Amino acid sequence: MAATKHFPRMVSHVILDLDGTLLNTDGVMNEVLKVFLVKYGKRWDNKISQKIIGRTPLEVATAIVKDFSLSLTTEDLMSAISPMFSDQWCNIKALPGANRLIKHLRSNGVTMALASNSSKSCIEAKISFHQGWKESFSVIIGGDEVTTGKPSPEIFLEAAKRMNVDLSNCLVIEDSLPGVVAGKAAGMAVVAVPSLPKQAGLYSSADEVINSLLDLHPEKWGLPPFEDWIEGTLPIKPWNIGGPVIKGFGRGSKVLGIPTANLPAENFSTILSEHTSGVYFGWAGLSTRGIYKMVMSIGWNPYFDNTEKTIEPWLLHDFGEDFYGEELRLAIVGYIRPEANFPSTCESDSKDS
Ligand code: ADP
Ligand code: MG
Repeated sequence: MAATKHFPRMVSHVILDLDGTLLNTDGVMNEVLKVFLVKYGKRWDNKISQKIIGRTPLEVATAIVKDFSLSLTTEDLMSAISPMFSDQWCNIKALPGANRLIKHLRSNGVTMALASNSSKSCIEAKISFHQGWKESFSVIIGGDEVTTGKPSPEIFLEAAKRMNVDLSNCLVIEDSLPGVVAGKAAGMAVVAVPSLPKQAGLYSSADEVINSLLDLHPEKWGLPPFEDWIEGTLPIKPWNIGGPVIKGFGRGSKVLGIPTANLPAENFSTILSEHTSGVYFGWAGLSTRGIYKMVMSIGWNPYFDNTEKTIEPWLLHDFGEDFYGEELRLAIVGYIRPEANFPSTCESDSKDS
């Protein structure tokens, strides 16, 4: 998925967007909407979380009113959920790789700005819950400090002016399409980290589209490289997941030659939404058998083009039999790469044939 269109230019300064780029704002919006809809006697559906990813609050409210046939206007919904949403700012988690990137650039003396369409006071409130963030930015600029927000380039032009740097020396990192458009209109280099799954094609105006902040290679832009990769793998803060092995799509071992022991995804929708799609590794414990090395993917599986985000662990051991129903525990310790598609499963068997 990481595609660079042409030789990137060398930059010295970085301008970051906040919601959806550094912060998993959608995760909290999801929880707020869940509480709100239950109050209205509506049943929460996991698919809603997919729908709100990368959308503006107005777009989300419009979709919710329509989809749930609510007897209130979009504006009513907005004013009802706004205070609920701001109450939850303390719970907005940093996106994978956000802390790592901020620390890395800061410790290497790279000047950074934060430029978001939300108001400066909202930005400051949101980042106050993340240690070391405020001090890392030389410039913090809100949508209320310019005449027109993104997709207008104004906010980025102002950020460059305040950092006292040429536009051509700035790299913008953005998750949203209006943000990418704004960065390009400002004459800056732009890396897109789309929040919307499987929408990389929409971001063709960006200079590079990456899967997550974990996949950013600053040296491509003349910035200091990360030094935490070990032989092509990136150690991450370990996390755990576990449950009984269930029937998956029934096509893993048959089609790909790689059986994946599926866990009930509905139990893990929150944890899965917190982790970027991609290929990871770690350890797998089976209650009655032992502990094995494990490689897994999280995501939508580009080959099968799944609609639901799933977790697919492949245990590096030849069991010679299935073990459905057994308790499986996973400890995920490292990231390898984004999910990738392949044209066919073997020379004579392509998906299109
Ligand atoms: P499903 O779609 O039901 O998950 P798969 O074709 O992916 O079917 O096969 C997965 C099943 O294969 C697992 O649930 C497990 O019972 C079995 N299995 C056997 N060996 C392995 C292995 N090394 N790693 C993962 N699952 C394995
Ligand atoms: Mg499977």
